Amino acid sequence: MSRIPFTRAHLTGRELEYIARAVSENHLSGDGGFTKRCNAWLEERIGCAKALMTPSCTAALEMAAILADIGPGDEVIMPAFTFASTANAFVLRGGVPVFVDIDPVTFNLDHHLIEQAVTPRTRAIVPVHYAGVGCEMDAILDIATRHRLYVIEDAAQGILSSYRGRPLGSFGQLAALSFHETKNVVAGEGGALLINDPELIARAEIIREKGTNRTQFFRGQGDKYTWVDIGSSYLPSEIVSAFLLAQLENADAIQHDRLRIWNAYYDAFEPLEARGFLLRPTIPSDRSNNAHAFYVLVRDLPTRTHVIESLTRQHISAVFHYVPLDTSPAGRRYARAAGPLPVTHSISERIIRMPLWVGMTADEIGRVVAETADALAAAPVIA
Ligand SMILES: *Cc1c(COP(=O)(O)O)cnc(C)c1O
Repeated sequence: MSRIPFTRAHLTGRELEYIARAVSENHLSGDGGFTKRCNAWLEERIGCAKALMTPSCTAALEMAAILADIGPGDEVIMPAFTFASTANAFVLRGGVPVFVDIDPVTFNLDHHLIEQAVTPRTRAIVPVHYAGVGCEMDAILDIATRHRLYVIEDAAQGILSSYRGRPLGSFGQLAALSFHETKNVVAGEGGALLINDPELIARAEIIREKGTNRTQFFRGQGDKYTWVDIGSSYLPSEIVSAFLLAQLENADAIQHDRLRIWNAYYDAFEPLEARGFLLRPTIPSDRSNNAHAFYVLVRDLPTRTHVIESLTRQHISAVFHYVPLDTSPAGRRYARAAGPLPVTHSISERIIRMPLWVGMTADEIGRVVAETADALAAAPVIA
């Protein structure tokens, strides 16, 4: 029986042609024509003041932490149900991640718990749009405005998704996207920093160019090119951007096919939900779904382990994540929880992410659902 991988990179058709063009144009370092076209595509679709391609979402978050002037002891509110980079970017500046529990429906920051986590040291809130479903941005922006905090969206999973009609990545002063191989639109490794506060653009360009004013200099602003601020190497090569542009030009088609698969799973898992074996995702009606992930929740950790092992035996790769950051070795050392995180810990023990990649067939989806049903047949139910 053929293997069903968890994810599989999708080629839209023009990636190699664009890379060949980048090579023949003899401009392989960053900020050539392809990088600029990727930036422009993101600015147009997301409506941010500036988009800057980066080598990864991690790099974009690191730039955001520098731009927000995070320093030793500054606190940054975020979920513990996220990838390590969300926290690391701030810890590298000496900041302290402060974990707030997540909402049981979206697995995003529970906005009711944010304000009580604010202290005089708080500098920023980092909402993570889990599975591409937006956080409660109106409430988060309101808290941030009242306490004069930065909002830095971790929109790694959020491309082409929206909250109350506005694209994710357009809410915070800063936002970070990922084009890692496992995301919807990919460049192998890649990311972008989105800037919605125009006052941060000039410094972002400097931080991204190793702390120099190179970008401004080549635009004809300034008469010399020199070291002016802290920074690092935060721009990707043209080869990466050439690959990505081919993906961005097909982003709507990618989205469309991912939604087909997501909806097929959603319908096919309905009977198992009706019998109490699992819960399917709920997308609040004021948010869109970019089909980044299809997951189910089962009753408890032993059930989850049993299902994933059963699927593995049938050559189906389903996965779980995240180890809550508050329980991780680095999280214990560098971060703290604002209070108990019962929802975070419960979800992280019960979630199963199903295979989802462009081109998955109805047969493959059917096999995943049937094998999950078989594995759950003798398992305890939720209610
Ligand atoms: C994937 C991901 C990242 C890291 O993205 P990279 O591009 O691999 O650096 C950060 N945060 C979240 C929530 C992610 O899903």
